[in-house]
Amino acid sequence: MSAAAMLPRIHLLDPDVANQIAAGEVIERPASVVKELLENSIDAASRKIIVTTAGAGTRLISVQDDGQGIHRDDLVLALQPHATSKLNCASDLEQIASLGFRGEALPSIASVSRFQLLTRQQHADNAWSIDNSLAVKPAARTVGTTVEVRDLFHATPARRKFLKSERTEWLHIQSLVKAVALGHSHISFELINEGQHVLRLPASADSPEKRVADVCGKSFLKQSVCVDAHSEDMRLRGWTGLAQAARSQSDRQYFFINGRLVQDKNINHAVRLAYRELVEHGRFPSYVLFLQLDPATIDMNVHPAKSEVRFAEPRNVHDFIYASLTNCLNDNSAQTLQLETTKLTATQKAWTINESRASYQNNHVQKAFFKTGLNDKPVFIFAAKGKFLIVDTASGQLLIDVIAANKLIAFHNMLESYGTDTVTLKDIHVPVSCKLEPDELDTLHKHEAEIKRWGFLLEPVSPDHIAVRTIPALFGYADIIALVKDLLTSLNTVQDASQVATTLAEHVNTSGSNMNDEDVALLVNKIQEYETSEGEDRHLPWRLLDQASLATLLKR
Ligand code: ADP
Ligand code: MG
Repeated sequence: MSAAAMLPRIHLLDPDVANQIAAGEVIERPASVVKELLENSIDAASRKIIVTTAGAGTRLISVQDDGQGIHRDDLVLALQPHATSKLNCASDLEQIASLGFRGEALPSIASVSRFQLLTRQQHADNAWSIDNSLAVKPAARTVGTTVEVRDLFHATPARRKFLKSERTEWLHIQSLVKAVALGHSHISFELINEGQHVLRLPASADSPEKRVADVCGKSFLKQSVCVDAHSEDMRLRGWTGLAQAARSQSDRQYFFINGRLVQDKNINHAVRLAYRELVEHGRFPSYVLFLQLDPATIDMNVHPAKSEVRFAEPRNVHDFIYASLTNCLNDNSAQTLQLETTKLTATQKAWTINESRASYQNNHVQKAFFKTGLNDKPVFIFAAKGKFLIVDTASGQLLIDVIAANKLIAFHNMLESYGTDTVTLKDIHVPVSCKLEPDELDTLHKHEAEIKRWGFLLEPVSPDHIAVRTIPALFGYADIIALVKDLLTSLNTVQDASQVATTLAEHVNTSGSNMNDEDVALLVNKIQEYETSEGEDRHLPWRLLDQASLATLLKR
């Protein structure tokens, strides 16, 4: 054979192979099959949906509904790529009201499984079935559709290998069904695994409250505030958790836009901003929120699993969510705080506090507490793996929450030095490369000067990658990619520098284990200089360990 004959040639892929490639995008794991099938059942106006699984979805996923079914003559078409009943022309894409619209799910799923679909429409004489062979046969069932997916990924062992343990895949399925059910409380859902009922969520016609209680527990409702806010063209409803509902994971964060569960950076940012004072770093607020807006102002067609969206007016949406949540949370935490204060005064009577509370509130007195400084080496100890610092000062011991204090000081430092060329920079010697999404690339170009003013040097290295060359030294221990992505998101969504600084400061995670004597002295100095506004000292991440604080701490 000549050398030329061995060189690869270009040819069209067999559609079967092409489908498996596309399926890789939408169908990553068993839970993605469940998601697509549930969405189809919901789009078909079903009232009752039963999901049955075996082998964490790898042996069997069956989704049975009582929806409108598929016409016999459309069955073969339903299994063709880009065949859908939900869109007619390109302009329909601007007004999507259904969950599906690409016509990709069924052919993708069928191409990676042993597939069977049974369906019957109202007024049809009987049901019909279709499987991988595309043969349409008469069958028996009531009105509705059942899709059975067996031996998922049997023909693509490589993908199968990437699946996590059965337990993990099963957890994904469970949380997916719960999430979808939260968004559609008028539909009844059942989940049966290996013959056992795992979830039974009856439909509740009037309000999603019962569904939220069934999925998240009644305690979540008790620990959260009801949200109902309008703007001219948007409505935000749902429940947003107070501080005590915060969790160590982000597993109770549900945000629906027009009934679709989304994971969107712009929205996450708005929510995080609203919670920045209520929920400490490392904890995650809980919420179930439903945003309703005109489908024409939102593009759902930007992500294979349709979980990301693009807004025509991202700033409006961001600010509306931020303002609505802040209003609700502030009203409510003010009330809770008042309640707690009343309780506290009642119990405090048991012991007397000799010091006047005014001493905490007065700046000048507070400043006089410290006699330490760079020249006068502080005596200090770190506790709880460097998380807390106790410093000996002339007026007693000062207890500092190190990470929180570093964040607060960083926030003020950033604002002070923003745009003044006085930011202390840290060069990244082995540049960190980071892939940017199109909207992030837009921001990078639009806000080039501002990015520099914040102390970042980001260099494009390919059309969609940048290398991070320099960051402010404050972020020496931060996750650089997350930091840069947050910087870009906030430049795109918020207006004033203090909001950007708030977001960035969240990334400071310098704890005692990263600090030397000089860093400690600097931190104590900064605390010493810190100007408190009235009432703020109660929330500061440092406290003088005087008799009253120690008594409270050791109260039995
Ligand atoms: P899409 O949902 O994007 O239209 P799918 O491949 O998921 O694409 O489904 C193709 C078509 O099959 C849908 O447009 C719909 O007409 C029909 N279909 C799929 N599942 C169901 C179901 N459970 N009930 C009724 N019709 C269905
Ligand atoms: Mg679909």
